[in-house]
Amino acid sequence: TLSDKLDAALKNVKGEGRINDLNIAETMREVRRALLDADVNYQVAKDFTNKVKAHVTDEKVLQAVNPGQQFVKHVYDELVYLLGDVHVDLNQAKRPPTVILVAGLQGAGKTTFVGKLAHFLKAKGRSPMVAAADVYRPAAVDQLETLAGQVGVPVFAIRGADGVPVKDAVAVAEQAVAEARRMGRDTIIIDTAGRLHVDEAMMDEVVAIKKATEPDEILFVVDAMTGQDAVNTAKAFNDRLDIDGVVLTKLDGDTRGGAALSIRSVVEKPIKFAGTGEKLDALTEFYPDRMAQRILGMGDVVSFVEKAQEQFDAEEAEKLQRKFRTQEFDLQDFYDQLQKIKNMGSLKDLLGMIPGVGKAIKQIDVDDEAFRHIEALIQSMTPVERAQPEIINGSRRRRIAKGAGMEVQDVNALLKQFREMKKLMKTMSKLQGKGRAVDPTQ
Ligand code: GDP
Ligand code: MG
Repeated sequence: TLSDKLDAALKNVKGEGRINDLNIAETMREVRRALLDADVNYQVAKDFTNKVKAHVTDEKVLQAVNPGQQFVKHVYDELVYLLGDVHVDLNQAKRPPTVILVAGLQGAGKTTFVGKLAHFLKAKGRSPMVAAADVYRPAAVDQLETLAGQVGVPVFAIRGADGVPVKDAVAVAEQAVAEARRMGRDTIIIDTAGRLHVDEAMMDEVVAIKKATEPDEILFVVDAMTGQDAVNTAKAFNDRLDIDGVVLTKLDGDTRGGAALSIRSVVEKPIKFAGTGEKLDALTEFYPDRMAQRILGMGDVVSFVEKAQEQFDAEEAEKLQRKFRTQEFDLQDFYDQLQKIKNMGSLKDLLGMIPGVGKAIKQIDVDDEAFRHIEALIQSMTPVERAQPEIINGSRRRRIAKGAGMEVQDVNALLKQFREMKKLMKTMSKLQGKGRAVDPTQ
């Protein structure tokens, strides 16, 4: 993955006491290759490395106390910038209902996203309604109706006497807006039809819907796994529709991530949401800094803590965050959090957000089985061992393994994962604690 490759590229300088021209050139070459491999647009990758190089070669940086880390920080800063710098919220109508038009190719995840967005807005206290303007396949209307039922929001569709959807997408969209207004819903989200490739008929229809409904927000939904194609499609839709934002779906999959990095700079429209799974709650607001942290393998502590807040109370979450920073996080905390995480939806998604755990977990492919193993191992440790894992020597390892009905190597693996996690937390807290690195342009 991109994370792994960047990690490897930056390894050279991370440990170096001094940065010199040679390792800069070499590292930048590897960073560029990592970006290209991840399907990042060539020009974008080139500009990216040139900018980082310019920052890093500056003398002030060379003389800095910890140049390796500054190097990483520059790559991080540049990634954040490339991803759009700041989070951009959805537009809202001055007078409700806010009209949100959702467009994209077939299979991109539009209908799923419409359901997720309704769920997201409802959780924020808004009162959305969804409209089925993908009128060509009856199954598309059924799919949206099912999703709306799960979320608990009204859905607008027009069916003939035979139950078959009436094939007039513009009429559906237009009447849906009127109906939302009549019902006092504050938002109407319009799902549209997509095709396998960009074509005129599809574009004409979406443009007609746009004209008829005057959306406050036009979101273009794209499958992140399609790489460079995602960028080209985004461009085509933006040219015709002048979109307001991009939704990247399937970021949970084995995506190369390059789409996220190129779209923003090529299309110059913000990425507003990321889809991370098939379930209704697998949607996150897109924050460039968090995405950059994930790409650099720093995990996504902020998102994690936010999700956690839904589960824990605020005070507890703050304590957890502090422990991450100060590295007081021990195996007992790890165990406690695992218990809570159990109730927090998809385990794998969430664990992936904890720095260090993500990678380690991916290797063992966490399922509930593996989860129970971790639990059992920590359970058979004494409180002192949980608080000070470093005292766990050979004989303790044997005892713990036996108590959990597992092998010593399972204990070793767990301790290794935990150590790696702490190491990453240290990097994280250093980067965050120091604020911005020296800016050579000032
Ligand atoms: P549409 O044709 O654009 O409306 O696409 P759908 O919403 O019907 O989604 C197509 C397929 O992608 C479905 O099987 C969805 O479950 C799946 N899907 C949508 N979003 C995501 C996502 O964020 N992650 C994953 N893994 N699958 C997704
Ligand atoms: Mg659909």
